[in-house]
Amino acid sequence: MSRSQVLVIGGGISGCAAALSARKAGIDKVTLLERSDRLTGNAMAGGIMANNGRFTAEEEIKLMGGGGDLFQDFRACVLHENVEFPGHRHCYLHDIHRIERLIHEHLERAGVEIRLQHRAIDVVRKGDRLVGLEVEVMEHRPDFRLRSFEADVFVDATGSAGGMEVCYRYGYGCSCCVLKCPTFGGRVAIGARAGVGTYCSSAGGQEGVISGSFDLQKETLPPEYVQELVRTGVVLVPLPQEALKLARKACSQYRLDAFKSNFVILHNGEAKVMASACEGLRQLPLLRNATMAQPLSGPELNSVRYIQVHFKRDDLRAAEVSNLFFAGESAGLHNGLTEAVCTGALAGYNAARAALGHDPMVLPLSTVTGHFIHWVNQRVQEASGRNERYTYSGGTYFEVMKELGLYTTDLRLIRQRVEAAGLADLFNRRWVPAEMVTP
Ligand SMILES: Cc1cc2nc3c(=O)[nH]c(=O)nc-3n(C[C@H](O)[C@H](O)[C@H](O)COP(=O)(O)OP(=O)(O)OC[C@H]3O[C@@H](n4cnc5c(N)ncnc54)[C@H](O)[C@@H]3O)c2cc1C
Repeated sequence: MSRSQVLVIGGGISGCAAALSARKAGIDKVTLLERSDRLTGNAMAGGIMANNGRFTAEEEIKLMGGGGDLFQDFRACVLHENVEFPGHRHCYLHDIHRIERLIHEHLERAGVEIRLQHRAIDVVRKGDRLVGLEVEVMEHRPDFRLRSFEADVFVDATGSAGGMEVCYRYGYGCSCCVLKCPTFGGRVAIGARAGVGTYCSSAGGQEGVISGSFDLQKETLPPEYVQELVRTGVVLVPLPQEALKLARKACSQYRLDAFKSNFVILHNGEAKVMASACEGLRQLPLLRNATMAQPLSGPELNSVRYIQVHFKRDDLRAAEVSNLFFAGESAGLHNGLTEAVCTGALAGYNAARAALGHDPMVLPLSTVTGHFIHWVNQRVQEASGRNERYTYSGGTYFEVMKELGLYTTDLRLIRQRVEAAGLADLFNRRWVPAEMVTP
């Protein structure tokens, strides 16, 4: 039996952010459970940062003292700065092969207890509180050892992808094989196990949303393309119209003409292909030898996510369970690494406050992250709002950011806003137990 003050389930970016944030806020024992053998989850298939409104959100949360450590890691493995590609401005591209190790070491230095190959499979609930978890520990395959973990407060950061049954059901692959679902057992949504209400994104009348990109092994492209990709970070490969099959990917960028007539390829250590699915990949002489890095199913539809995501309050707490918080995709239709860091930072901070006997906090609507959480919560009350995914970098939410003046690249303005709300260094404040605070 292991006992923590704060227990984070899921070692994707949102879970890493939550664990760091809880440590910073004064929690002695923070444990992070990850079912696979690596941290950072879908960040290992990512690459794009600070595009469009993500720039504002990153700078804002850093000024609040949250997530800055993780953004430093992303910036430490930058391959290209200030990149533009259709629909996206001022982004940086990080190396997907380096990010996991940097973040892992960072968490170790911060004193987070990391438990890999630990898959939470069930909960123990007493009244309106969670008291423990049943965890499958993978030591000597195929045998698992069951262990119990107890904690004061829990954060569900289990993402929204997999397991293998999702790949079977959709039949055409799910790029979340970067999460190695079949090897380590699928995702278990801990909130759902604890009785928290869930929903499933249902674009086009089917459960789950198909999105994202796929990676080609860079070296399998013709050398002149590799050189250009490595030099500039972006290559556009024109597509014959008949080669492109518009699919059901949810990302709004795929409606832009530039994406309908090109493969947009970005350098993220591999060759990240932004396309809504293409039957003609191998018909293009350029890509005849291209080998898939991930998803292994190839450029057919991929990345089925947003299955069993949780309803939560604006402070990221479950309405039904008083000591359970959510972060990242598990907390709603939030898409993106920046969104995962920001919601993770708040979830970890609020988990720490709750563990020390203080009320969790709602970020004001004048902040990007506060507004985003509130807005998504409102939207998903209606079935129509569950047909979309929400991101700072595009689609309806980026339009809202622009309308409200929340989007800006003016660092002075971002600082003024954070200071005016009294939130500078918020996440750097250490909390002491409520009973030790003299009234
Ligand atoms: C192919 C692809 C490309 C993308 N590219 C970009 C990009 O370029 N830029 C960008 O900003 N965003 C990108 N995204 C989106 C972004 O990667 C995700 O939104 C973000 O990583 C989600 O983080 P998360 O922590 O919420 O979830 P995840 O990354 O899914 O992490 C969840 C973690 O929880 C673990 N877990 C699940 N259940 C359990 C359990 N029961 N016990 C223990 N552990 C468990 C999983 O193994 C996983 O490691 C991309 C997504 C995909 C799929």
